[in-house]
Amino acid sequence: MDIAQKTAEVLDSVVALRRYLHENPEIGMQTFKGTKRIIEELRQIPGLEIKDLNPGCIALLKGKGPGKTLALRADFDALPIQEESELDFASKIPNACHACGHDMHGAWLVGCAKILASMADQFNGTIKFLFQPGEETLEGAKHMIANGCMENPKVDAIIAAHAWPFAPAGSVALRSGPMMASSDMIDITIQGRAGHAAQPHRSIDAVFIASQVVTALQGIVARQTDALEPAVVTIGTINGGTVRNIIAPEVTMTGTVRCVSKEVRKNIQTQMERIVTNVAQAFEGKGLLNYELGTPPVINDEAMVSLVRAAAIQAIGEENVRSIPSPVMGGEDFSLYMEHAPGIFFRIGSTNDDPRTHLIAHNPKIRFDEKALEVAMKVLCQAALNYLQ
Ligand SMILES: [Zn+2]
Ligand SMILES: [Zn+2]
Repeated sequence: MDIAQKTAEVLDSVVALRRYLHENPEIGMQTFKGTKRIIEELRQIPGLEIKDLNPGCIALLKGKGPGKTLALRADFDALPIQEESELDFASKIPNACHACGHDMHGAWLVGCAKILASMADQFNGTIKFLFQPGEETLEGAKHMIANGCMENPKVDAIIAAHAWPFAPAGSVALRSGPMMASSDMIDITIQGRAGHAAQPHRSIDAVFIASQVVTALQGIVARQTDALEPAVVTIGTINGGTVRNIIAPEVTMTGTVRCVSKEVRKNIQTQMERIVTNVAQAFEGKGLLNYELGTPPVINDEAMVSLVRAAAIQAIGEENVRSIPSPVMGGEDFSLYMEHAPGIFFRIGSTNDDPRTHLIAHNPKIRFDEKALEVAMKVLCQAALNYLQ
């Protein structure tokens, strides 16, 4: 039997699992019920070695002889929003919803484990199935790596796929190089000295200094970054002052920085430090920056892109394999695995005639076409076999 036939065989159980996860969404690192259900399914598959990380788990599948190790990763956490999809299997939990399609990911990876376990005599080496909690909170990949998912045996390459409301169900989309942005957090404090609003020269106005800092920070992307390099600096909050006739002694601001190159990321951090410190100092205040590195950019490995592209053409036909023209500036903690092994993060189309399938991910009304489950299993399994044969 080939992959297409085996996919057809497991499809009903994968749809059922997807709907279970959808009805019972769990947020962040609280994916305990989902972990339990996934492990129950994995235990029924002969030949799998399972490590329960509650939340999350790792399943190991050995082929017929020694060889390389390939990891396949699925996240299965939900978002803290109230679902409005009106699906029969909509969330039963208030303020929890699978609006990013991670229920699909968890289910299709269990399907892949079923299919590949039945084909273990057809490849060498090892496949590791990584079921990750907490992607939306950017905690999950860290937790998986800390629990040794990239070692014993050492992972040589890693693949992840994400449901995508920008391409029709039945298709996949990929790109080489930068795919998603780094996501860093910034906290800025401007310290001045309180005083009478009518006598600003006797105080140090933190509100005035903060506004100069916000303006100057926008010069980093506009004037100090190559125009051909995507980058975003956003100040999201600004707080200071108490009443209209007192000069504010302190202002705090928070924001985020996104870019797709490691060099640009480093430059922005350095420039930001310089601007916050020196602009504040120029007006006799004090500027403090706390720049917290979040997740690095997702940069797809060229050889892995070729592997998955060829597998997709084989599995679903060339007409269903699309290219993604540019990276998106959202973050993905899949990049943390990529610091240990080359990898690819690609997209599985999930739209159909229903306009709700065209909404952007994280919208509470979004629906995903379940045909994406079948396509993901076919492409991921074919890529795994090709890599390990
Ligand atoms: Zn998301
Ligand atoms: Zn997502």
